[in-house]
Amino acid sequence: MPCQICRAPTRNALTKEQNVSCGDYFEGRRLYPEDRGALQLRECVSCGFARFDDMDRWSADEFRTRIYNADYHLCDQPFLGARPRKLAAWLTAALPPQSLVDYGGGEGMMAALLRDAGFDALSFDPFYGDSGAPVGPSPVVTAFEVVEHVPDQRALFHTLMELCAPSGIIIFSTLLKAPELKGDWWYASPRNGHVSFHSAQSLQLLTAELGLACRSLSTEMHVAARDASLLATSENWPPIAVNGAP
Ligand SMILES: [Zn+2]
Repeated sequence: MPCQICRAPTRNALTKEQNVSCGDYFEGRRLYPEDRGALQLRECVSCGFARFDDMDRWSADEFRTRIYNADYHLCDQPFLGARPRKLAAWLTAALPPQSLVDYGGGEGMMAALLRDAGFDALSFDPFYGDSGAPVGPSPVVTAFEVVEHVPDQRALFHTLMELCAPSGIIIFSTLLKAPELKGDWWYASPRNGHVSFHSAQSLQLLTAELGLACRSLSTEMHVAARDASLLATSENWPPIAVNGAP
């Protein structure tokens, strides 16, 4: 299969057992011992975008059964509390209170914390919670640790753009990969539901194609807008480390 972003050929960058999680690297042990067989991570030889090719064929029900099940929290402990608290505190420091839609917000903890801080914040997650699809458009759309979970990147960014007002901004995190992987990489771990991995180049190619200007604040935090002049405000935001490193 050619690259989803730029249609160039792909190569096998690494092979990983599908029950390996990011948490394994932080804890130094297998959190899910069962061997479910290996997956290939295909990497574009041109733009560096990478994807676990078999997982992109799973249905939403297969993702619910295999990934987003009762054991999901084992592979990503910060998902439950530490990360929503850190991100809510960061957004509160970076932005004045306003309307915000958090796409892929899990159980909605970050949005709840933002409401406590005066934001009109809503959370929507295709796999968690029972809130219906949010009614856009909103001046701020957030999607933290979401991009890497989604097989179809164009569909995802179209959804984020539909939720975002024409003069709004999209703030999202995903850890960028090296243009060419050499050896193992902890973030490419299927048990977390991590499927798609952008290089700096592939992220710029995709957002530019969709008419978005995109600025990376770090290797993990990014901001995009239809109006490039809106990105300048992000230069004054405090730094944030979303994931840490194992
Ligand atoms: Zn490519």
